[in-house]
Order: sequence, then C-alpha cells, then structure tokens
Amino acid sequence: LFSGRVEFLLSAPQLKFLPDPSVPEIAFCGRSNVGKSSLLNALTGRKAIARASVTPGRTQELNYFEVGTPTAFRLVDMPGYGFAKAPPAVVEKWRRLIRDYLRGRVVLKRTLLLVDARHGVKPVDAEFMKMLDEAAVGYRVVLTKADKLKATELAEVIARTEADARRHVAAHPQVLVTSAEVKLGIDDLRAAVLEDAGA
Ligand code: GDP
Repeated sequence: LFSGRVEFLLSAPQLKFLPDPSVPEIAFCGRSNVGKSSLLNALTGRKAIARASVTPGRTQELNYFEVGTPTAFRLVDMPGYGFAKAPPAVVEKWRRLIRDYLRGRVVLKRTLLLVDARHGVKPVDAEFMKMLDEAAVGYRVVLTKADKLKATELAEVIARTEADARRHVAAHPQVLVTSAEVKLGIDDLRAAVLEDAGA
C-alpha cells in the first residue's frame, strides 16, 4: 500500500474540520524535533510528504494523509508537543484539540508515540502517555534516531522504554526501534501500521 497512493488530504486546526470518519486512522505524535516528519517521509517512501521542522509551536493542526486507492486508511500527523517557548494559551489550545481528538475519534485505531532514542521517555512524554491511557487509545512507543546511539546504549534505552511502556495500560509492550536517516526499522513500522489499520 505504501508503494501506491499516499496523498496529503487536509490540515485540521479544529475538530470540526476533520474528514468524515469513514476509514481507520493511525496517528503519529511526539515532542517537537523528535523526527516525526522524517519518519513519516521514510514510512511513506516520499521525500517531503510531511513538512520537516516547521517553526516549533506554530503547527497546531492535525495533518491528514490518505493511503491506498480506494483509501484504505489515513495517517494523522499530530502537532508536536514539548516546545519550550510556546505561550500557555497555545499549549492549552493544543491540549484541548488533542484530548478531544483522542477521546472522540472512533476510527482512531492506534497512536504511534515517537520518542528520541537519545533521551528515552521524558516527563512530557509520560504526560502524553497518561493522556492516551485516559482516552483508552492504544499506542506503540517508537524510538527514533537510533543511528545516533551505540549498540549498548540502544539496548539500554530499549529496556528502559519497555519498562516505561509496561507502566502504562494502553501502551503496547513492544517498542519499535527506527532511524529515518539510515532506514532502520522502517519495514517493521510499515507492518505495524498496516496491522493496526487492519489493512
Ligand atoms: P519533527 O519536528 O519531529 O518533524 O522532526 P524532523 O523530522 O524535522 O527532524 C528533526 C531533526 O532531527 C532534523 O534535523 C532531522 O534531520 C533529524 N533527524 C530526524 N530523523 C533522524 C534520524 O533517524 N537520525 C538522525 N541522525 N537524525 C534525524
């Protein structure tokens, strides 16, 4: 499916602009700069389907991409969180949009929570995981930028992240390890997305 049609659909700044809930959705979230755009581009095999590194805190929209003809499922690029300089009002607006989306979106099959392999789960990630737990949205933790670590460091962060995942009810126990840079774990990520989307 990823070698076929993958197309930008729309950006939704508010829930009323979401498309009809007619196909499954897989959402991608994580801290700003976690490597979400790069991973979405690697996943879809497109060079710039997701805009890389827009000014942190400025993208407060849910960006939709469609996969397949006819559309088999949609990928949702959620606005990054954890940006240091965002004013409280922006953070609050983000919080409400995300919380309402997570709670109310029946076609949302799974969320992929991206975590920078160099840092592991940070308090701001744990907070997001709690939000997912409370919304009862199943999620997988995906480590990004794995190429930046030595094998021993990577093994350590995987173990630590899986321990973190086990502390959260809605988290999948297995952590995915990826690098968009050297295309590590991309096939596994594709398989996970297809499985979660029921495609
Ligand atoms: P986003 O803000 O989460 O969409 O993150 P981007 O995809 O724009 O990536 C943020 C920065 O991390 C950029 O400088 C990327 O080049 C870098 N980056 C993203 N993925 C990787 C990766 O797999 N390995 C390495 N070494 N750098 C990466």
